[in-house]
Amino acid sequence: MGVDTVKVFVLNSGSSSVKYKLYDMPAETVLASGQVERIGMEDALVTHRVPGREPYQLQQEILDHTTAIQQVLRLLTDQERGTAVLERIDEIGAVGHRVVHGGEAFQESVLVTPEVKATIRELTELAPLHNPHNLSGIEAAEGLLPGVPQVAVFDTAFHARMPQHAYLYALPRLLYERYAVRRYGFHGSSHRYVAERVRTLLGGEGTPKIITCHLGNGASIAAVLGDHSIDTSMGFTPLEGLMMGTRSGDVDAGALLYIMAREELSLAEADAMLNKHSGLLGISGTASDMREIEAGAEQGDEGAALALEMFTYRIRKYIGAYAAALNGVDAIAFTAGIGEHSPRVREMVCAGLTYLGVELDPEANRQAKGEALISTPASRVPVYVIPTDEEVVIARDTVAVVARERAPVAGQG
Ligand code: ADP
Repeated sequence: MGVDTVKVFVLNSGSSSVKYKLYDMPAETVLASGQVERIGMEDALVTHRVPGREPYQLQQEILDHTTAIQQVLRLLTDQERGTAVLERIDEIGAVGHRVVHGGEAFQESVLVTPEVKATIRELTELAPLHNPHNLSGIEAAEGLLPGVPQVAVFDTAFHARMPQHAYLYALPRLLYERYAVRRYGFHGSSHRYVAERVRTLLGGEGTPKIITCHLGNGASIAAVLGDHSIDTSMGFTPLEGLMMGTRSGDVDAGALLYIMAREELSLAEADAMLNKHSGLLGISGTASDMREIEAGAEQGDEGAALALEMFTYRIRKYIGAYAAALNGVDAIAFTAGIGEHSPRVREMVCAGLTYLGVELDPEANRQAKGEALISTPASRVPVYVIPTDEEVVIARDTVAVVARERAPVAGQG
């Protein structure tokens, strides 16, 4: 009806996996989704989902991202296997890629060009575990879908407008100038999606102050002013801030130096300690998964109970800090695996926020499914559960960037 529709293929390429979603835009209808796991192995597994049909699985040797994406593209058009949602692969009008690190170079989503790829490659320095694989996904898609515009959407971009006083560490400034060591923040597409939903739920007017809590295996929290983040708990790496499944979150750098000296740890060992053996796992000694932590705490396990207490205490502390950073708060939102599914965590966090005028509705909190208001009408600050959707943010940005690039430049058109 006058609106151009376009099919957008969203890709999230990791070291050994590719997750995908095919959207019909602008309706945002998901035509298909799925993932390829164990790339690089003989028994890689493709799981392909089409709404209303049984999931389709395929196990075979897949050694690289190109083969993985090629396999997915085949499934999207394979009538015989019943996995098809497209007649022809050239119906895909654009590809949107999740790229973890945009550094200071990318403050918003961009069309992929040779220069953009070169910069993403340079940023590997800052995100060695992610950017190279994101780039492999981009190059694979370029090869398989020649001429189709590719758009990069960065996890850091939503935080790119943080003021300097929030993003600098109080280290010698030379280190920032020399190595770009500063706070970048991550989970940007998630914080952005959630904040946009909350802004709409609040009436869509003005510049609300929103605190978004993304609590998954990785966890971060953001202070959002209207349409951008002004501070966030993850920093130069995703290690800083909240306690996570296996990551420590905030820790005194001096304690780290001391431990490294006493235990004679190498850099790799210290890295593993902080990223893989800390957090909920490090404190409970048994589990990194919140479901297991909650079950353990329920059964009287001291370590699990302590892990839960520490996890929620940290979140509460950050909410207080961000209420101060924003000079007030108009709404608080919970998202991601724990934020969306754990009434217990939400209750424990909010129990200490009465000074902000937060009043949780226990029944609404327990019953919450999907998007929900979980505070009472009297609560001065509304509290929401918002299921996150990073892929739709990527799909929307992909459409917007392609439209912008195609639009005639003002004055020349
Ligand atoms: P990732 O960061 O890997 O994307 P998710 O956002 O999927 O992670 O979140 C995973 C976390 O969510 C795990 O700690 C898991 O235990 C927790 N989680 C999922 N469902 C529930 C639930 N019903 N109750 C408590 N925690 C849950």
